Amino acid sequence: MKDTFYITTAIDYANDKPHIGHAYEKVLTDVIARFQKARGKDVFFLTGTDEHGEKVFKAAKKKGEDPQKFVDDISERFRNLCTILSVENDDFIRTTHSRHEEANKKIVKAMHEKGDIYKGEYEGWYCVPCESYWTDKQLDEGKCPECNREVEKKKEEGYFFRLSKYEEDLLELYDQKPDFVFPESRKKELLNRIEDGLRDLCITRSAFEWGVPFPIDDDYTTYVWVDALSNYITALGYPEGDKFNKYWPANVHMIGKDITWFHAVIWPAMLMSLGVDLPETVCAHGFLNLGGEKMSKSKGNVLDPFELVEAYGTDALRYSLLSGGSIGEDSDFSEELLVKKLNNELADNLGNFVHRTLSFLNSNFDGGIPEREEFTESDEELVEETRRTVDEAGKDLEELSLNTALEKVMALSKKGNQYLNANEPWNNEGRAPNVLNVCGNLCKNISIILFPFLPDCAEKIWEQLGIDESIRSKEWEDAKDFELSDHEIGEPEPLFKKRDVQTKEEEKRSQI
Ligand SMILES: [Zn+2]
Repeated sequence: MKDTFYITTAIDYANDKPHIGHAYEKVLTDVIARFQKARGKDVFFLTGTDEHGEKVFKAAKKKGEDPQKFVDDISERFRNLCTILSVENDDFIRTTHSRHEEANKKIVKAMHEKGDIYKGEYEGWYCVPCESYWTDKQLDEGKCPECNREVEKKKEEGYFFRLSKYEEDLLELYDQKPDFVFPESRKKELLNRIEDGLRDLCITRSAFEWGVPFPIDDDYTTYVWVDALSNYITALGYPEGDKFNKYWPANVHMIGKDITWFHAVIWPAMLMSLGVDLPETVCAHGFLNLGGEKMSKSKGNVLDPFELVEAYGTDALRYSLLSGGSIGEDSDFSEELLVKKLNNELADNLGNFVHRTLSFLNSNFDGGIPEREEFTESDEELVEETRRTVDEAGKDLEELSLNTALEKVMALSKKGNQYLNANEPWNNEGRAPNVLNVCGNLCKNISIILFPFLPDCAEKIWEQLGIDESIRSKEWEDAKDFELSDHEIGEPEPLFKKRDVQTKEEEKRSQI
């Protein structure tokens, strides 16, 4: 097994400011990256912005802005989004940067030299927002099968990628690498679509110029998907970069389910053409249902992640995004749900356990974790439960089951509360040192396995426990250790404040 771990998000389309769906994908990816670091892997986490194409050009024009200035501004917002979410990416690739453009040209040239690009004429149904051609058969009741918008008949001369040549190889890939597309349901959709036969892909656009110049013919720009997909290797310095040699192939490409086709069909075919190794897993996450409805601008139910973080904090937003359901399925999200989880789960369970423990240590043990005597059966049970949780939550995370892993972390904190209630250290002076030693250690251990999910909260626990950088371990297996003893803690403070939902409507009303 390689000791590196390379994970990417899709690069975000720079035609509009970030919404909660972008926040969701970044947080999912960040959890996996942090967990793999805690496992001792040398992790590289890439995100970025996709800044070319007709949609971006039109959006800039509508605002009366130069497209480069327009994408500079949007891209900055996406970098800010990472910051406010405590997302710890190692690089941020922009497709308008020369390091990307130059490497992308090399990629197209190499595919051409392989004999996989030819000039031809294309006619089909074109969807402007998706920048995709569709056949009669692919249309969904006459509309675009990706976005359900109107399509227009369009004909153009251009260059084609011999995607059809790789049909057999792709089918063999899905067969031999069952984890290549995750979850399974997405793979079935692909296979159904491939059954109709793969057609060669038009990879140039002539009508407008907001793109990477097509390196084989000046009259064209490169199709935005061939430009965008290549970011995963251009960011590493392909073809000769040290990072490329070190980190490629990617372990996980995290993407939204709507772009599975591009990542699980076109991208591996491009890599096959280049003779480059294929990524391990394309993980297609579900969408967020906002109040049970699919998020859309026309419905006006698009939530702003910046406003949510400002109102409730990073931990509460990360927690509510991560606890919504399994990664491959759509999950529910709303401001009400966020507040409910903040109050009932973060404050009442996790915050309560940590604060009870630290306050008790502060007022009864002179602000320190006491030495422990022999474990009783009840102590032993909680220690064993902790070790089991570390193993099982770790296994869940390896299998990309983030929500069940988080549930297990929270269940452990609940066990901590139950243990305190059952052992009543406030009524039992003899038992108190042991019980508080176990609970102090459990707080430390919970912060280790919580760190990938809620890094800010884990930092606060470490700080209140008096565990500074010099003695802090973030290694996953160290969460099994109960050896913290005769240790001075910091100042206890509640981790979470309970909140009421205040929607914008109410805010407006209260101002009147
Ligand atoms: Zn469309």
